[in-house]
Amino acid sequence: MLIVLKPNVTSEEIDHIVEKIKSLRLEPFVSRGVQRTIITIIGDEDVLREQPFEAIAGVESVKPILRPFKLVSRETQPERTVVKVGNVEIGGRKVVIVAGPCAVEGEREVVEHALMVKKAGANLFRAGAYKPRTSPYSFQGFREKGLKFLVKAREETGLPIVTEVIDPRDVALVAEYADMLQIGTRNMQNFNLLTEVGKSGKPVILKRGMSSTINEFLMSAEYILSQGNKNLILCPRGIRTFEDVTRNTLDAGVVPVLKDWTHLPVVADPSHAMGIKDYVPSAAMAYLAAGADGIMVEAHPNPEEAMSDGQQTIDGAALEDLIGKLGRLARAMDRDLL
Ligand code: PEP
Ligand code: MN
Repeated sequence: MLIVLKPNVTSEEIDHIVEKIKSLRLEPFVSRGVQRTIITIIGDEDVLREQPFEAIAGVESVKPILRPFKLVSRETQPERTVVKVGNVEIGGRKVVIVAGPCAVEGEREVVEHALMVKKAGANLFRAGAYKPRTSPYSFQGFREKGLKFLVKAREETGLPIVTEVIDPRDVALVAEYADMLQIGTRNMQNFNLLTEVGKSGKPVILKRGMSSTINEFLMSAEYILSQGNKNLILCPRGIRTFEDVTRNTLDAGVVPVLKDWTHLPVVADPSHAMGIKDYVPSAAMAYLAAGADGIMVEAHPNPEEAMSDGQQTIDGAALEDLIGKLGRLARAMDRDLL
């Protein structure tokens, strides 16, 4: 960590800062330049981060040298993590497709939807039994009944199932049914929920908070890994900007950063990024071209009738067409679809 001192800092103030650093059992190195003095501190950055150095007289700014996350970092683990969900491996050379409607819509419906995405070529089926809705009056999901319907869909298709958990108290229950737990954008910083899914040991797909920075996203990932659960997938899904045509702004640029900084697989969601079904395939291609290990897309046989997010949901034919295109792009990138 570097502490940059103010131009008019006094030697008493410098002595005080040096004493403070030594009292933390860390080593300060004072470099006096012509215009500025800086203090370099060698030692545990975690101890330093807790210290309000900016509050001390004479300090202008404090600059950390190391990134604040460890377990997600490729500095800690250079080899890539491959997460196994059912019999599907995510994070290797093969690109995976996760698809399904936004919500579980009933027993017969969910089986029909899972058969549709399987026929189109998807590897995992995703639908929400618990829906975090902006309005308390909107459809909240079939909840535990919905989880049972999802099991039926898995039995009928053999596809592993992915579903969202929104409450720390439900993690054990949802983990009993699902093959992978989704943490939605609104819960990316629900630290109790992150801790619980971490403890569950189940594969988790963590969506990026719609207003979160990359560092915040990775600190949330760190919560899950810090509980001993390495089965984590990162999911960019668009972020909020001043843009008001698309639902969010496509954050394809985050993919190469995540792949460079972390060893975790990235499966990106173009549906919530765009919010308009006609633009979802292009966004999916952009995420894949940026290096994503998989694409998670909302699909429904009749989007017009979907119980939620119909406007951004593609139908079975569009899904099949998209998967064909993603396969061609993957092969051009020396990868392939699963
Ligand atoms: C969803 O996946 O249907 C969902 C609610 O997504 P997000 O949390 O990204 O808005
Ligand atoms: Mn949705």
